[in-house]
Amino acid sequence: MAKDDKAPVMLGMSLPDVDVWSDRVAVALGQNPGPFTGPGTNTYLLGTGKRRILLDPGQGVDGYLDFLEQAMERVGCEGLQEIVLTHGHPDHIGGCRQVMDHFGALSVKKKPWPEVDAAYDFEITPIDDGDRVSTEGVTLRAIHTPGHAPDHLCFAIEEEGSLISGDNVLGVGTTVIPASTGDLAQYMDSLERLLADEPGRIYPAHGPCIEDGPAKIREYIAHRLARDDQILAAMEGGANEVPAIVEIVYAAYPKALHAAAGQSVTSHLLKLEREGRVRREDDGEGPTAARWHHSP
Ligand SMILES: [Zn+2]
Repeated sequence: MAKDDKAPVMLGMSLPDVDVWSDRVAVALGQNPGPFTGPGTNTYLLGTGKRRILLDPGQGVDGYLDFLEQAMERVGCEGLQEIVLTHGHPDHIGGCRQVMDHFGALSVKKKPWPEVDAAYDFEITPIDDGDRVSTEGVTLRAIHTPGHAPDHLCFAIEEEGSLISGDNVLGVGTTVIPASTGDLAQYMDSLERLLADEPGRIYPAHGPCIEDGPAKIREYIAHRLARDDQILAAMEGGANEVPAIVEIVYAAYPKALHAAAGQSVTSHLLKLEREGRVRREDDGEGPTAARWHHSP
């Protein structure tokens, strides 16, 4: 039986609305708490000067701007230089319009994901792996880390040796790998890549600052490998469809999260399939509806 004592942590955790996590990093909460966002999106104000980078402006929730302005005031920041995004999920990109309506037009930098970016009425300035974005006191180096989302960038803060991890490594719970647009094998490669970079601190998109970055990344890798084993064990016990596997592996999770857990299980099965460890009876309904078996 699977046991995951981290399961309920994503719900009910709270963080201050405004906080300062280093000389170069302040945070305002996006005011969008929920089962998949924990206390809400951490929106980061980066730099040491009068105009700073706003990274991931949250979802566009009423009331957020008050906290952003409080954070700016707290650190002596008088304006925004530009917006930088880790990826195009709505709890990251969705606040751009609200921020620009208030502060005026700003450059928005992210790795393009055309299908998703097209929904927004502002121009995207493309950045990609290895690109740098600088402001006074902070140089961000983009690291392409697909798996959770194809456009996902993490950012090393070169002056600190720290890492902004977006949704790849979280301060609460674990990352959802969507079955359709995510890719668990890529995600594992991305974690290995981040580990090789030996970050010190990690600033996640959700949850508190992580002091020992490498330890947390190793924990994430171990968690995924353990999940592979749990899924294989559930299949050995006779569970051959995603919902039945979820019932066993995610028994400790609230039922409300089981649909998302199904996405995760499907992502694991697709990775195990690629590794030749499971096979599916495909009746054309797609991987979530298929029956799965151990490979002989
Ligand atoms: Zn995301």
